[in-house]
Amino acid sequence: MPRLVMKFGGTSVATVERIRNVARHVKREVEAGYDVAVVVSAMSGKTNELVSFVKDASALYDSKEYDAVVASGEQVTSGLLALALQEMNVNARSWQGWQVPILTSEVHGSARIAAIDGTSILRGFTDKREVAVVSGFQGLHQPTQRITTLGRGGSDTSAVAIAAAIQAERCDIYTDVDGVYTTDPRIVTKARRLDKVSYEEMLEMASLGAKVLQVRSVELAMMHRVPTYVRSSFDDPADPKLGTLICDEEDIMEQQVVTGIAYSRDEAQITLRNVADKPGIAASIFVPLADANINVDMIIQVVSDDTTTTDITFTVPTADYERACAVLNAHRDDIEFKDLQGATDVVKVSAIGVGMRSHAGVAARAFKALADKGINIRAITTSEIKFSVLIDSAYTELAVRTLHSLYGLDQA
Ligand code: ADP
Ligand code: ASP
Ligand code: MG
Repeated sequence: MPRLVMKFGGTSVATVERIRNVARHVKREVEAGYDVAVVVSAMSGKTNELVSFVKDASALYDSKEYDAVVASGEQVTSGLLALALQEMNVNARSWQGWQVPILTSEVHGSARIAAIDGTSILRGFTDKREVAVVSGFQGLHQPTQRITTLGRGGSDTSAVAIAAAIQAERCDIYTDVDGVYTTDPRIVTKARRLDKVSYEEMLEMASLGAKVLQVRSVELAMMHRVPTYVRSSFDDPADPKLGTLICDEEDIMEQQVVTGIAYSRDEAQITLRNVADKPGIAASIFVPLADANINVDMIIQVVSDDTTTTDITFTVPTADYERACAVLNAHRDDIEFKDLQGATDVVKVSAIGVGMRSHAGVAARAFKALADKGINIRAITTSEIKFSVLIDSAYTELAVRTLHSLYGLDQA
């Protein structure tokens, strides 16, 4: 029998009625002849609630107990979906991450999957034609026997990893939109659904803020060449659409120069003013930040008026902003900066497209279009298939819409 992995996100399992609807989608595939492993998220809003309980109980919480608490949301939905399937006369049972087992690293709160033993799930297929309903987002760190979680949005990664482990024909990620769009359809009504998008572009889109798939899930899909669809659980279970296929670049006939626009509010800007302009200065700033596990993204250095000092601007994730400022202030004597200025009301807007490899001047057009709208660019980065600009967050929607139209992505 061919195998299939179906993943359902929070809004798709938000109530028992929605879970019954999910069961109808699963039953359809079982009747079509697939052996099915289903991966479920927690009910919509549940994980946020559990995280807030943890923070309420302990400000500097133990990350092992954080995982013990937040992993519970998925335990509920896997059990409920197994029950809903049984009610429809489909053989099914729930699996927690530790039962499969899904083995992970020990990095609580953002663990990486190290190995999945699919034997028990496959035995359920062959012995009983039993649907495996697996709790997403969670795993086990075997040496310590502790429950881990894979980071927010991690059920996508659970699904693709299981698809690779059981050699599924494909992995279907069901969500509240009917595919991957040229940009977030919640902020641009003219966004267009893509029939296909390459692994590489999807990886950039996810990394640059498109939350429709967790970054790690796209990495795994690309690495193991798992054909992955993003599709809607809100379609009629009797007549669903296929959604968007994430696939090899070669399988896409028509390529635009720019495929999508993404934005991320998870950026904070730090500027060090009047830093001594001498060898080793960049190291004196960025080595302590790296030692503190703070990821620096965009970096620009300018020569100041007096030519003996320079200004350095860079960005860090919002969650690390306070810590980054503390680290820099602690190293003030080594770095010899005069002033530290920070901004958290900034957003990174990015354009992504494999066509950029072969077309010149793609970013330049964006700078002009943004300037025409009076949007000031604070920092820029470019790489082979994307470029990003850092701007004031008040202009997020205007900038995304401007770039979306500029590159001809608006739907008619
Ligand atoms: P789930 O709970 O099913 O995992 P998510 O909320 O994590 O769903 O992801 C789906 C959401 O991703 C959509 O509702 C949409 O607003 C957002 N999104 C952001 N960028 C895109 C994009 N380019 N295409 C589709 N959806 C996007
Ligand atoms: N429930 C988890 C979260 O909200 C994992 C997921 O939904 O993918 O982040
Ligand atoms: Mg998600």
